[in-house]
Amino acid sequence: MNKIVIIGAGQAAGQAAASLRQEKYEGEIIIFGDEPHPPYQRPPLSKQYLSGEHGLDKVYVRPEKFYADRDINLNTGVTVTAIDRAAKTVTTDAGDTVEYDKLLIATGSRPRILNAPGKDLEGIYYLRTIVDVDSIRDALSRAKSVVIVGGGYIGLEVAAVAKTMGADVSVLEMEDRILQRVTTPMMSEFYDQLHSGRGVKILTNTTVSGFEGDGHVSKVLCGETAIDADMVIVGIGIIPNVEIAEAAGLEVNNGIVVDDHCRTSDADIYAAGDCTNHPNPILGRRLRLESVPNAMEQARVAVSNMLGGDKVYASVPWFWSDQYELKLQMVGFSSDADSQVVRGNQDSNEFAVFYLKDGAVVAVDAVNSPREFMICKQLYGKKVDPDFLAAPESDLKSLLQ
Ligand code: FAD
Ligand code: NAP
Repeated sequence: MNKIVIIGAGQAAGQAAASLRQEKYEGEIIIFGDEPHPPYQRPPLSKQYLSGEHGLDKVYVRPEKFYADRDINLNTGVTVTAIDRAAKTVTTDAGDTVEYDKLLIATGSRPRILNAPGKDLEGIYYLRTIVDVDSIRDALSRAKSVVIVGGGYIGLEVAAVAKTMGADVSVLEMEDRILQRVTTPMMSEFYDQLHSGRGVKILTNTTVSGFEGDGHVSKVLCGETAIDADMVIVGIGIIPNVEIAEAAGLEVNNGIVVDDHCRTSDADIYAAGDCTNHPNPILGRRLRLESVPNAMEQARVAVSNMLGGDKVYASVPWFWSDQYELKLQMVGFSSDADSQVVRGNQDSNEFAVFYLKDGAVVAVDAVNSPREFMICKQLYGKKVDPDFLAAPESDLKSLLQ
């Protein structure tokens, strides 16, 4: 085998290319990415890159010259339009047809669009790419009233940055609580109070019915209510980019279906990152995850198996979110639990909620508590005494012995 093609030049693709060389693969590596940038990390986009604290050098996964130095053929600004599985080729929008021995699909996901009247007015933004953030930052520096649609990770992280920059910020969430998709009512309430305490207006049970403005948005309509807006940022979830896989006849079902080796229904085609639907042997079910750890680990597993290895992807999912000076770190899914234990004090913004099922730890949400987070990662699936977990003086490390 001497030619590996990677579709997408994001987090998973960047990791895959680096891992291929680390694993001493000496053949050709060709990456096609439709964005104008080399592989980069998205987490800073709604945090330090948006606030201006970090420049592009800290956003790129690796310096641009990394790819040339390792003879990795990185093609940015090029979209792969089709995969021909019989001929083992991909076609690009530049009209080129390129052969592969093994193919990695790492196409990620794209923002879900809010389909409401007025949606094409100027001043309505989505946040997925560096290009998006460059325009958002510019508009944010001039905006007085910022309306954010969606009280998920993007919405709240951007709210924290916009508020810190001095804007009037409202977050509109259609569910009855923010972060509904990822955590428990108690944590939603904590984050609601955190934002409200900093002056962000959190409006739950609020659905956008349209936008108004003369060319540029000036109001967000929610039924009878109209909210003034100099700019709107929409963060209402993502859609996995599966279309070229589907058109090539690969199995797709809420993501490109892969096995525990990150292999698709075609033995020569692998997939990694946001675009996959994969089995998790620890949790005992299939998942589609939207996280950096997932993209990187799947890329490593796919690479190892492309090169003849026999590696299984089996990790407990983990996530993080930075809002103001608070770092939330999460392991597992709190929705799997039947009870919860709080350790620490919410008033001090330093606490962890452990989630148990049948007495065993299945998740933790840790706020400014990296120790609890690290320990929970290792405690996953172990039965523990809830009183021991809750007692601030107990040494959690002793549970690991
Ligand atoms: P991506 O990084 O999206 O890369 C896919 C690339 O493929 C994109 O550039 C896409 O344009 C390109 N592409 C798609 N189709 C084609 C095609 N046909 N031809 C060529 N190129 C194509 N996760 C966390 O764990 N922690 C965080 O704090 C966090 N913060 C985030 C903040 C923001 C603002 C966003 C948007 C995401 C955040 N995430 C975070 C999620 C995380 O960034 C994603 O899960 C991760 O980027 C997924 O990596 P990926 O390689 O699958 O996809
Ligand atoms: P998200 O976490 O899925 O949150 C979207 C939120 O918007 C959900 O609460 C959703 O409610 C709500 N919503 C959906 N439609 C709406 C509507 N019409 N009006 C008002 N609210 C609506 O997605 P996101 O915040 O847009 O983030 C996009 C991607 O980036 C995700 O993959 C996310 O994981 C990733 N990201 C991750 C981090 C992190 O890990 N720290 C940070 C930023 C972004 P429902 O649940 O009912 O749909």
